[in-house]
Amino acid sequence: MLTVVPIPAFNDNYIWMLQRQGTRRVVVVDPGQAEPVLKQLQAQQLELEAILVTHHHQDHVGGIKALLDFAPVPVYGPDNPVIDSITQPLREGSSVTVLDETFQVLEVPGHTLDHIAYFSDSATQPLLLCGDSLFSAGCGRLFEGSAEQMFTSLSKYTGLSPETQVYPTHEYTLANLNFAMAVEPDNLALHEYQSWCIKLRETGQPTLPTTIAREMAINPFLRSSEPSVTKGVAKHFAMPLADPVSVFRQTRLWKDQF
Ligand SMILES: [Zn+2]
Repeated sequence: MLTVVPIPAFNDNYIWMLQRQGTRRVVVVDPGQAEPVLKQLQAQQLELEAILVTHHHQDHVGGIKALLDFAPVPVYGPDNPVIDSITQPLREGSSVTVLDETFQVLEVPGHTLDHIAYFSDSATQPLLLCGDSLFSAGCGRLFEGSAEQMFTSLSKYTGLSPETQVYPTHEYTLANLNFAMAVEPDNLALHEYQSWCIKLRETGQPTLPTTIAREMAINPFLRSSEPSVTKGVAKHFAMPLADPVSVFRQTRLWKDQF
């Protein structure tokens, strides 16, 4: 088993730290800052085994060099020369074994063109490290890719086991939920989840990880085929929407303006 804990960074980033239970071996995901990670490593005398990267944005890669000064470990990430510290470039279908756990690599362009995700199909604990592609109740902004690309990327997630634990890299849940409620005001699961997340945030706890099952029940960006989402988005733009990709495109556009 792996334990996974968030190391808060910047205003609302989480650097997820995976640890093999019963050992001091850890891996960190998207270390945008080195200091909070180094603090954890030193306080608990942990051994950094590798760094995983999902995409090239500075708040995900900015701490890598300083971590490598501390421990020269392999750096897994997208096959994108812009991230010059990557030692193990990955593609769709690549697999990565860290902490004795094997992760499959999914290419999920949209937020950026180089974005990848890591999925471990362990029978006891399937988990998805999705970076900025998926958030709880939201998805990444389309900085580089098209709505079609992002729709296809997110479709890879909806086919994963419903119990998969999902680890996005930002605490955006409450703001995303306000938007999701505007799209689907009658979604009861959304109301219940919002109340729960408000309680968590009031006591300073993360709303993450989430699960694929929960996101499929509440995340408008995974629900483009639901009549209630189509209805909400079509009403907002006062235009008919013929297919799920069009619904997704307009939902993303609406959120950008929300
Ligand atoms: Zn990003």
